Amino acid sequence: MIQTILLKNRPKGTPSPADFEFIKEEDNLTVEDGQLLLETLYVSVDPYLRGRMSDAKSYVEPFELNKPIHSGVIAKVLESKNDNFKEGDYVSGMLDWKTKQVSSGKGLQKVDPSKADLSAYLGILGMTGLTAYCGLIEIGKPKEGETLVVSGAAGAVGSVVGQIGKILGLKVIGIAGSDEKVELLKSKFGFDAGINYNTTENMTKAIAEAAPNGVDVYFDNVGGPISDAVLFNINKFARTVNCGAIAVYNNTEIPKSISVRPFLIKNSASMQGFIVSNFEDKFPQAIKTLSGWLADDKLTYSETIVEGFENIPQAFIDLFDGKNKGKMVVKI
Ligand code: NDP
Repeated sequence: MIQTILLKNRPKGTPSPADFEFIKEEDNLTVEDGQLLLETLYVSVDPYLRGRMSDAKSYVEPFELNKPIHSGVIAKVLESKNDNFKEGDYVSGMLDWKTKQVSSGKGLQKVDPSKADLSAYLGILGMTGLTAYCGLIEIGKPKEGETLVVSGAAGAVGSVVGQIGKILGLKVIGIAGSDEKVELLKSKFGFDAGINYNTTENMTKAIAEAAPNGVDVYFDNVGGPISDAVLFNINKFARTVNCGAIAVYNNTEIPKSISVRPFLIKNSASMQGFIVSNFEDKFPQAIKTLSGWLADDKLTYSETIVEGFENIPQAFIDLFDGKNKGKMVVKI
C-alpha cells in the first residue's frame, strides 16, 4: 500500500494532528515514457510550510485542502523511463508526502550518498544551508571583527549562520530556547556566547552584555519580542537579515511590535527580507563553499531525525516547540 498525507484543515493557531489526514491506496503505480518511480527516504519538515497551510497571499501558492502536502524530499529511483535518471539513483526535490510516487523528473537533482549523508542534502547542503549562506553573505554583508547576533541559533539555518560568522572572523552570539541548546552553540558550533530567551528576563540587557560593542549584523529567524530586543542594541550601519519569523507564524491576530523606523533612522541601519530562491544564481558557488568547509571540518551540523512516515505531521508541529536541534528530518 502507498501512504499519503493530505492537508485536511487550514490550521488555526498552532497546527495540530487533526489538520492532517492519512490515506492508503493500492500500489499500482505505472511509469510512462519520461517518468520515474520514486521511493521516499527522507522528508524535510520546515517552519515555512506553516505559511503554505494558510490561504493568505504569499510568495508561493497555498497548499490545497485535501491534496498531498509537499516539501523537500530525498528519494530513491526504483524505476526510470527518463534518460536523465537510472534505477538506484538518489534524488532530491520538492515531492509529495507519499511513500511512493511517480515524477516527471522536473526539478529533481541527483544527490551522491558517497559525498555526504543523504539527509544532509535537505539541510546543510540543501535549502537551509543555502538560506544561511546566501542570507548572511548577500544581505548581512559580514565583515571581520564585527558582531553577529543570530536568533533561532540552534536550528537548521541558525546553526550554519553562526558557524559561517565564525569562519569569517566575526564575534557570534546565538539566541536559543534552552540551556542545552545554548551549550551546543558554544561547544559544537563555536559561538562565542549564547542566550536562553526562555530564562532571560531582560533580553535587551542580556544582548547588550553579550555584545558590548553593539550588533552589526542581526540574522533574524524568529521575529517577535526577541528581535525587538536586538534592535535596541544595533550599531550605526547595522544590517538586519529578515529570514524568518517563527514566533508569529501561528498568530491569529496581527502581532503588536515596537516601531522599527526610529532605530533604523538613527543608526542609518537597514533591514531586508529575502526568500532563498532570490539567490538561485549563487547556489552553485554556495554549495561548493559549504561542501569545502564541511570537508575541511570548518563546518559541522546537527540533525534531529524522527523515524516513520506516520510521524511527519508531529515532527512538523514539534518545530514550534523547539524539539529539534539542527535540521528536523523524518526518515521513512
Ligand atoms: P529551525 O531548525 O530553526 O526550527 C525552528 C526553531 O524555531 C525551533 O527549533 C525553535 O528553537 C525556534 N522557535 C520556535 N518557536 C519559537 C518562538 N515562538 N520564538 C523563538 N523561537 C522559536 O528551522 P529552520 O532553520 O528551518 O528555519 C529557521 C527560520 O528561517 C524559520 O523562521 C523559517 O521560516 C525561516 N526560513 C526562511 C527561508 C527564506 O528563504 N527566507 C528559508 C528557510 C527557512 P528554540 O528552542 O530555540 O525556540
